[in-house]
Amino acid sequence: MKCRSCRAHAVVEIRRHHAAFCTEHFLAMFRTQVEKAIRRFQMMAPDDRIMVAVSGGKDSLALWDVLLGLGYDVTGLYLGLGIGEYSDRSHQAFADARGARLQTVDLERDHGYDIPTAGRRGSRSTCAVCGLSKRYVFNRAALEGGFNVVATGHNLDDEAATLLGNTLRWQTGAIARQSPALPARDGMVRKVKPLHRLSELETAAYAFLRGIDYVVEECPLVAGNTQLRYKEAMNAIEHTSPGTKAQFFLGYLERGMPLFRSEDRAELRPCDECGQPTTGRFCAFCRARAQILGERLGGEPEPTDREVAEELADEVLPVEIYERAGR
Ligand code: SF4
Ligand SMILES: [Zn+2]
Ligand SMILES: [Zn+2]
Repeated sequence: MKCRSCRAHAVVEIRRHHAAFCTEHFLAMFRTQVEKAIRRFQMMAPDDRIMVAVSGGKDSLALWDVLLGLGYDVTGLYLGLGIGEYSDRSHQAFADARGARLQTVDLERDHGYDIPTAGRRGSRSTCAVCGLSKRYVFNRAALEGGFNVVATGHNLDDEAATLLGNTLRWQTGAIARQSPALPARDGMVRKVKPLHRLSELETAAYAFLRGIDYVVEECPLVAGNTQLRYKEAMNAIEHTSPGTKAQFFLGYLERGMPLFRSEDRAELRPCDECGQPTTGRFCAFCRARAQILGERLGGEPEPTDREVAEELADEVLPVEIYERAGR
């Protein structure tokens, strides 16, 4: 196989493009796709302060690496979930090797619970409370640290799987919110997904070719994650019809998303417990945390299972594994 650009020996084949690339031209193609995503959705500008959500897996480290290479002002934030020790190393080594800034938040140390405990004690599934915790911690850390953008390593496979799940259940609200760039609003920083045009295979190849030592173990709790089943279904279709995944998600962005766009957004107000934005008196994170720790919020009785289910439907985006490895 020869490189599409220079006819040298190719190291990566991209079936959906019917193309292969040498190391140099694969890395160039990868950066071009990220720049295209950033430009198309006006994700970030050179004077933005960007926080990258880092797990230690291939996607988040590839994202951190490519944004540093493009000259953006980027700081990594690692969130310790308490799921074993499996992802506790690579992000630190990455930051040390590049002199990159890294912050850490630890759920147990800073908020009093870890994800395995949350899964056992709360009324949410483990992955639901994990996704909720990530969204909360990254937004709060960004606000408190003066960052105006949070970038996550969601790739094309993640996004296509989420869209498939939302479409199978016709969750129109969630479909409308599935944009690679969510603008800032009342206490919520801008959220962007610069890798959404690149597949899981491509981010793995990028990390490998850039010599990034990433965590390859899967989260041991992933078995309960419905997202994984949608990914497997998408992969089965992709195997026989290369390009379907990209057509599905990138086609949605071009032609589907405008049809689902909705203007009616609930008013946000500060949570009585933590001050972060919410639609009710207490935010979903504080309610979940209180339930896990067996505490009461402001003298209010604990919510019933039904109330929690309604709140999840209203406030919480569908669970997204923004990286399979290491989350
Ligand atoms: S699979 Fe992902 S979302 Fe689920 S518990 Fe593990 S890291 Fe969290
Ligand atoms: Zn080449
Ligand atoms: Zn709160």
